[in-house]
Amino acid sequence: MLAENPCLHCGACCAHFRVSFYWGESDPGQGGSVPPDQTEDVTGFLRCMKGTNQKRPRCIALDGEIGQNVACRIYAQRPSPCRHFGIVWSRGVVRFSAEGLARCNQARAAWGLPPLHVHPPKHTRPRRRYPRWRVRRPRLA
Ligand code: SF4
Ligand code: SF4
Repeated sequence: MLAENPCLHCGACCAHFRVSFYWGESDPGQGGSVPPDQTEDVTGFLRCMKGTNQKRPRCIALDGEIGQNVACRIYAQRPSPCRHFGIVWSRGVVRFSAEGLARCNQARAAWGLPPLHVHPPKHTRPRRRYPRWRVRRPRLA
């Protein structure tokens, strides 16, 4: 159990990867919610969060100190890579997809933060290989 969501005291992934997405996500005309002034062009098709397409990335929307206390200023409007990073936080348990956890720990390591040890989502837990069969005793005549 973790008493608090570790992301609130981390933010490493917001300052490690380029956060790029389909340009329509920042186009209100297409129903995009990401504030366009917080984004910049990557290719004609892709935009990214400002500050993340540079040698030492840091998203423009990130508030606070990495590894201390952080917050996303546009949390409700954040782009799809942030929404689908693979983290689920619920009742003191944080779950990642295996790929999400690897990327999370890659970003944390780059910031000198220890790796997270978390539970995989239930559907990735190994299933019983063979169903359990009940063995009936033969009836005695
Ligand atoms: S690197 Fe991992 S723990 Fe840190 S903010 Fe991102 S998802 Fe959360
Ligand atoms: S939009 Fe928010 S969640 Fe996404 S990288 Fe920037 S600060 Fe992090």
